[in-house]
Amino acid sequence: MNTLPAMPYNRLGSAGLQVSQFSYGSWVTFGNQVDTGLAKEQLQAAADAGVNFFDNAEVYENGKSEQIMGQAIRELGWERWQYVISTKLFWGIHGDYPNMQDTLNRKYLLQAIDGSLERLGLDFVDLVFCHRPDPNTPLEETVYAMSDIVESGKALYWGTSEWSADEIRAAWDIADKRNLRKPVMEQPQYNLLHRDKVEREFARLYEDLGLGLTTWSPLASGVLSGKYLHGIPAGSRATLKGYDFIKDTALNADVERKVQKLADMAATVEVTTAQLALAWVAANPHVSTVILGASSVKQLQENLGALTALERLTPEMKAQLDQLFA
Ligand code: NDP
Repeated sequence: MNTLPAMPYNRLGSAGLQVSQFSYGSWVTFGNQVDTGLAKEQLQAAADAGVNFFDNAEVYENGKSEQIMGQAIRELGWERWQYVISTKLFWGIHGDYPNMQDTLNRKYLLQAIDGSLERLGLDFVDLVFCHRPDPNTPLEETVYAMSDIVESGKALYWGTSEWSADEIRAAWDIADKRNLRKPVMEQPQYNLLHRDKVEREFARLYEDLGLGLTTWSPLASGVLSGKYLHGIPAGSRATLKGYDFIKDTALNADVERKVQKLADMAATVEVTTAQLALAWVAANPHVSTVILGASSVKQLQENLGALTALERLTPEMKAQLDQLFA
């Protein structure tokens, strides 16, 4: 770990907030594969490498992921100024009640943020995201509610996740016209197998709105680590209940061929397949931070080694990867 290059920090789009080039998120893992003890080890390993942003969501393990992250951070004794933390709201965790599920209405948002803060044991999150768009609530109502959350000090910045470019621009325009807090960041999936939104659909938003990106699933749930090239390893995410979709991606002949070539290219610069895939994501200048996932400290440390891969990723290699995964 000591030999890792220094962690770069990027502004979150045009916002002043600085986030580490690589960050760490808790989806699938915290509360499922990772308990508080292991969470502490992982959070500390990430912080030791310079990670300052930790991603979470209300819905992850139905609130348990927020509880574990909050508890782990308290036990680690971190000061609040040391880290940036997020949550994301939309699906709800109270089951099939009206106003509490699949919504971005005012009642849900203003109550959900309180629930997240209680589980995390915090007075505020740095970032709060609308986890998905809600076609059943007027956008103006959602923008007012998110702006009010920021005004109340319960979150410092708000943004969106998996919204379309049109939806983001419309929300931004409403906030601009009404003098409300504007959305400053979007959280899209971005990896070698999933490129369109970040590279094409959002292309005009970076300059027009100063949009920052906190990107998710940089390894396509592990597929781009090459771990599925020789079958489905026991205990891997693809074997978990509800994650069968990973097998469809991983066991596809075209994907296998491309991942094998990625592995061959990684070997030529003495980095792992995962590290090269992660470096490719980080090399996109519109990506403010690449949210890593890891079910063990070993994986997390390997993935943080993408800092080395980033130094070795030449423009020629990047162009080859762009073409291979076009
Ligand atoms: P990845 O695509 O990197 O997948 C991470 C998983 O891949 C790990 O949990 C592990 O699973 C496997 N893996 C990771 N590194 C290695 C390695 N070096 N070697 C072998 N296997 C490895 O990221 P995630 O899908 O976890 O997404 C990252 C974060 O993004 C999430 O934690 C969350 O914070 C955020 N996110 C946001 C979403 C949104 O809608 N806004 C949606 C999804 C994620 P295993 O060991 O179990 O096989």
